Amino acid sequence: MDNKTKKTVYLDYAATSPMYPEAAAEMYRMLKDEYGNPSAVYDSATHAREAINEARRTIAKTLNTEMDTIFFTSGGTESDNWALIGTAEAALRAGKGNHIVTSSIEHPAVLKTCRYLEQRGFRITYLPVDKEGFIDLAQLKRAIDSETVLVSIMAANNEIGTIEPIREAAELAHQKGSLFHTDAVQAYLHIPIDVKQDGIDMLSASGHKFGGPKGTGFLYIRRNLEIDSLIHGGSQERNHRAGTENTAGITAMAKAAAIAHSRMDEDERRISSLKSYMLGKLMRLPEIPELNGISIELNGTPDVIKRLPGNLNICFRGINGESILILLDMAGIAASAGSACSSGATDPSYVLTGIGLSKKDAESSVRFTLGRDTTEEDINYTLKHVEDILKRLKK
Ligand code: PLP
Repeated sequence: MDNKTKKTVYLDYAATSPMYPEAAAEMYRMLKDEYGNPSAVYDSATHAREAINEARRTIAKTLNTEMDTIFFTSGGTESDNWALIGTAEAALRAGKGNHIVTSSIEHPAVLKTCRYLEQRGFRITYLPVDKEGFIDLAQLKRAIDSETVLVSIMAANNEIGTIEPIREAAELAHQKGSLFHTDAVQAYLHIPIDVKQDGIDMLSASGHKFGGPKGTGFLYIRRNLEIDSLIHGGSQERNHRAGTENTAGITAMAKAAAIAHSRMDEDERRISSLKSYMLGKLMRLPEIPELNGISIELNGTPDVIKRLPGNLNICFRGINGESILILLDMAGIAASAGSACSSGATDPSYVLTGIGLSKKDAESSVRFTLGRDTTEEDINYTLKHVEDILKRLKK
């Protein structure tokens, strides 16, 4: 079969999502027609400036906040770096404490920034998680001390989809006078978030996880909170984030955010039900005589309310996950082992070993992430191929 006729099934939405055509069209329009530098004074610049402000207003609405709390960045990684380093440096200057609390299953954008801050004299507590991937709030409470300037807990995990109790974590941070940041790259526009009700001081998001372009994102910083800048230079983003604005990327991201927000509830229901269907079918594979004796388990929480709608992370015990992925790829199915952001690494996923899996079980795991264009036909096609692959690899 040549590539034109080969069926392809994309089940790696947590790695990245296809752009909404409307967002791509908006990006092209901006690049073609509204190329003025938003900082200039002439007419075309004014259009670009207004488009950015409109984008800021659109994004702000999706989080129930004011537009002046949204700062555009180059993506989730920069937003996480900015929140952590900006808070740490502001605290250092003000002679405040030097302690940060986070979880051990954060994305490397947070974990490696914490390592960097450790080298600069900060003390970091990495909270362990239970076997479903949840932090323990009592443990968090004990970890926060008089030196703690920031608690950073992800809204949902990228590998196992566990949704952390961020509202409760924010409350504990505030009770002890600390700030609260959440990496919401996987959660934003997939589950409802209200920065005011949830008590969030800073929130990171990334455009390419909800149908916007790669290399776009933002950091929400609540009103009256000042953190240090990460990128120094011109006076863009009200002197907080220098660099000529990525106008086309920003407006396209906002277009995607508006669409994703308007269909979030419907997508959540549909995707979650497709996922349950797929999980049910996967769990019954060992009933097939040729697959008898094989063990298939769900990694992370079985609680559908506390798991991202599209996330399925499955351990095919005793069978190598990479081999499954390669054979899936040959059938045109895209999935991933561990986190796509760290693929190429030979170590087993620290998230999976962090929830108690052995190295071998972690290496036998595959992440399927469903999204807005996933159909029942895609799932049935995938199930058929998983069945054939397991029969082949079991031999
Ligand atoms: N945080 C989480 C939880 C992620 O899943 C990712 C990307 O996969 C990032 C941060 C990094 O975001 P970006 O790709 O926009 O830099």
